[in-house]
Amino acid sequence: MKRLVFLGPPGAGKGTQAQMLAEFAEIPHISTGDILRYAIKEQTPLGKQAQGYMDKGELVPDSLLLDLIKDRLSQKDAQLGWILDGFPRNVPQAEFLDQLLTSFEKSDYWAINLQVPDEVLITRLLSRGRQDDTEEVIRRRLQVYQEQTAPLIDYFQAHGILHSVDGNRDLEEVKAELDSIVNQA
Ligand code: AMP
Repeated sequence: MKRLVFLGPPGAGKGTQAQMLAEFAEIPHISTGDILRYAIKEQTPLGKQAQGYMDKGELVPDSLLLDLIKDRLSQKDAQLGWILDGFPRNVPQAEFLDQLLTSFEKSDYWAINLQVPDEVLITRLLSRGRQDDTEEVIRRRLQVYQEQTAPLIDYFQAHGILHSVDGNRDLEEVKAELDSIVNQA
């Protein structure tokens, strides 16, 4: 079983670590943020609907993402495992995922929580220079994380599937710990 959900505030290094771990484990890295940014670049209907929310640092509505996740996890390359990066982002999305995986008869997965202190996050995010990374938007994204995404820590804990990892270390150290977790999975 190699099904992992990556949780952590913006700037925790989720995307980078999720990408490296997916290569290591030879499973797809599914980033809803990447999918949405690509949709915006291509100006698809999804991209046009998502852009305003993303520009402000808000979550895009669940209705735009649920079918997308269902389709992506149904694809052939996702049958041996996956890493979800950026989904679920709130409790209703987590409940949707649980129902979906139950319907696939693949309900077990692990949630990795990458922990990084707030002050480190802001410095990291400001130096990243992504288009949606102005200070105002960064602060809003952190606030949205605290309000809507952080409750998932308790959700996964209650389900007994939470693994917390100290993300405030060298990239290689974090990677080594994640590789060993995936080897046990
Ligand atoms: P990320 O690259 O994961 O930091 O996502 C960038 C932005 O995409 C977020 O600030 C949200 O606006 C949007 N987004 C990505 N994943 C989700 C999700 N699961 N639910 C709602 N919005 C999302």
